Amino acid sequence: MTSAPDAASTSTPESPFHTADFADLGPQFFTALQPTPLPEPHWIARNPAVAQLAGIDPQWLETDEALQVLTGNIVLPGTQPIATVYSGHQFGVWAGQLGDGRAILLGETDKGKEIQLKGAGRTPYSRMGDGRAVLRSSIREYLCSEAMHGLGIPTTRAMALIGSPAPVYREQPETAAVVTRVSPSFIRFGHFEHFSTRRDTHSLRQLADHVIDQFYPACRTGGAFENNAYANLLQAVSERTAVMLAQWQAVGFCHGVMNTDNMSILGLTIDYGPFQFLDAYVPDHVCNHSDSQGRYAFDQQPSVAYWNLLYLAQALLPLVGEVDTARAAVASYPEVFAHEFKLRMAAKLGLPAKSIQAPEFVELLQSLLDLMAQDAVDYSIFWRRLSLVVNGKADNETLRDIVLQREVLDGWLVRYRELLAAHEDPKAQAAMLTTNPRFVLRNHVGEIAIRAATQGDFSVVNTLQDILTTPFDEHPGQDSFADFPPDWASHISISCSS
Ligand code: AMP
Ligand code: MG
Repeated sequence: MTSAPDAASTSTPESPFHTADFADLGPQFFTALQPTPLPEPHWIARNPAVAQLAGIDPQWLETDEALQVLTGNIVLPGTQPIATVYSGHQFGVWAGQLGDGRAILLGETDKGKEIQLKGAGRTPYSRMGDGRAVLRSSIREYLCSEAMHGLGIPTTRAMALIGSPAPVYREQPETAAVVTRVSPSFIRFGHFEHFSTRRDTHSLRQLADHVIDQFYPACRTGGAFENNAYANLLQAVSERTAVMLAQWQAVGFCHGVMNTDNMSILGLTIDYGPFQFLDAYVPDHVCNHSDSQGRYAFDQQPSVAYWNLLYLAQALLPLVGEVDTARAAVASYPEVFAHEFKLRMAAKLGLPAKSIQAPEFVELLQSLLDLMAQDAVDYSIFWRRLSLVVNGKADNETLRDIVLQREVLDGWLVRYRELLAAHEDPKAQAAMLTTNPRFVLRNHVGEIAIRAATQGDFSVVNTLQDILTTPFDEHPGQDSFADFPPDWASHISISCSS
């Protein structure tokens, strides 16, 4: 190490992002602060595709500066990190002020993507929490963001995952990690509830105007409610939420904590905690060990989202004006959800969109779901095998193997083949293989990555990142990640503690 550093390495690189526009809204929306440093940070995984999407040079992710910045150990000149304030309903009850208790918004890129650290230390909104996230939950969030994106489901993204030996105390001592999340915005329904509850209509309007100007400009110029941009916003959010829920239900994704503070105003899946992709098809499955009432059971999710939208409507009422208008703005949710869900289930069945009009369609879908529920059939494996059967890559036996009531299945297959023939669409049939994933981030799959990472082996996290980004590909040699859950998986307990 004798040569002097060259010019490129001595010049201070410019920060890849600037203070988030959100900070322009005013001090009532956030607290300016510094992340709390963590010792000895190390990379676990990086996502150059997300860097690129955000307009950040992927090579920056290779630098020690990036490691320190994305751990929260240094703050780049010209950027002001902030934690935002929100409130919300948790498990059906008003929880009052919450806020970014462990999320810190570092800034925003020129491409309008916000860069947020999760687990970077306490904030004024941490309440009793330590502002940290443990390795296991951070691996789950990092991988699931990318898995959802790979499945084509709207979600916040993950750009980096960093670990540190610093201890974090949960039920037992664990170690700290920080996920860098990327999204056009992290604004939640709860941000609106916060200002509405305080009767701060001025701030409420500012927030709504910000969201409309940045993300829903069409609400100013058109929509069902003519000149009422706020009612148009409510309707647009309802529709995006309905589409997202249809996608969750179709793929078998259980969010686990659908509190209003975990609902994105952009209709993105946000805040991955005790989520689960269904193993067996159990419609009332509850994936969150802390959800003793089953409020967020899989089959409750669509109506919970509606409930949350009604609270958003209530929060926006001072801007919307009439109660009837607010109610009308969210009223389309059930219909949009039902329609979108049918479209997605038709696609899973290899049927074209128009087939959902056929009287047999709903009956056929329902009888399949009933059979799957009665026999606790593995949800993802059934759909994948059905795709292979329809596309001539496997035979009916592969389906009969995983069903108990085989005659019922046989009868169903006959009726299904009739509907397929009546609506013959080779493209839709072929598309089953890019609609029904071979790989989803089941609990046991995440757990394998977590166990290896806890031993210092991050290769499984990185392999899974690869696989889950392209979950419809075969990925030869990776069969174990597409397989049924092993017996030990039933003992995995996932709770809010993360
Ligand atoms: P969640 O259930 O993860 O959506 O979190 C609900 C609220 O608790 C949010 O305001 C979080 O910021 C906060 N929170 C959760 N875990 C922690 C933690 N370890 N430290 C500080 N705040 C937390
Ligand atoms: Mg949350």
